[in-house]
Amino acid sequence: MFKAVLIEGSDEEVRARLAELDEGDLPEGSVGVDVGFSSLNYKDALAVTGRAPIARAFPMVAGVDLAGVVSVSDHPDHGAGAAVIATGYGLGERHWGGLAQRARVDGDWLVPLPEAFTPRQAMAIGTAGLTAMLCVLALEDGGVEGEILVTGANGGVGSLAVAILAKLGHRVIASTGRPQLADGLRALGAAEIIDRAELSEPGKPLGKARWAGAVDTVGGQTLANACASTRYGGTVVACGNVGGMDVPASVAPFILRAVTLAGVDSVQTPHRRRMEAWRRLGEDLDRSVLDSLTTEIGLTEVLDKAGDLLHGQVRGRIVVDTSR
Ligand code: NDP
Repeated sequence: MFKAVLIEGSDEEVRARLAELDEGDLPEGSVGVDVGFSSLNYKDALAVTGRAPIARAFPMVAGVDLAGVVSVSDHPDHGAGAAVIATGYGLGERHWGGLAQRARVDGDWLVPLPEAFTPRQAMAIGTAGLTAMLCVLALEDGGVEGEILVTGANGGVGSLAVAILAKLGHRVIASTGRPQLADGLRALGAAEIIDRAELSEPGKPLGKARWAGAVDTVGGQTLANACASTRYGGTVVACGNVGGMDVPASVAPFILRAVTLAGVDSVQTPHRRRMEAWRRLGEDLDRSVLDSLTTEIGLTEVLDKAGDLLHGQVRGRIVVDTSR
């Protein structure tokens, strides 16, 4: 038997609870994993509260991330005893996920635990940190140098993006709705803090050019305004929607300032890009900064913390120790 955060119900209504499951209930997959750590992402919070239809089959074990040790394997790349991580690929959505003490997954989804990190640190990074790094890679693909705006800066993706971009030498402008956490953002390396309200109201099609690029976790009007204030030839990377799905944007920044709008999806990111992102995380993310952004909880606390996360009351990342 093993413990897991289980989502039951239907597309219309879901309930989540901490359940005791039988190993025989695990789905098919070439690799069994004894999960040591998972994490709580925005998507996990949506899933367990039922705020958005994340779980696509029922019952579903929640959790888009896992780190653990291979218990059994039919996969040539991951033998028993190997330390591995997995993020995305439908974990916690279409396939039983990582908020559990055991998992069974397709071995092609696994990445060896990066040498730079402990399993706990890898999950402190998790999908949020992988996404932050994918956004940084997209800015680099666009040749962006100089000032970078990061929205939702105190969240999981945002805080890690601030830390990585500052370490890489960019001047980071952090947008937040929690000015009381400004000192924490400066400690991550943010050079300037702006109130999220500056970006959340309808603005001009072309604003004053303020930044060379942006990492936007908010979407909606904020994304439109981020594009409108991007300098000539800059890149805006869209990865989130906490502020809305619809983007009331003008075409002006794209056709008059040659701004590029780049999208990031961490779920289906090809394996090579993932490996590159994890390698770069090992180089460009300070372990001490990561630890300062990490709060640890047990499986028993996941449901309570999910509400806090959706209410924007969590700073940085929540790592889940599955042993408790
Ligand atoms: P968090 O909840 O950790 O952070 C979100 C942050 O956004 C909050 O901390 C807050 O930051 C800000 N925020 C919250 N509500 C609003 C609002 N109504 N308007 C403006 N800002 C708001 O979430 P994550 O960092 O884990 O995820 C952020 C977004 O990125 C989510 O939409 C998530 O779904 C998406 N995402 C996408 C991925 C992908 O593959 N594309 C992967 C991972 C996440 P502050 O207090 O500083 O303002």
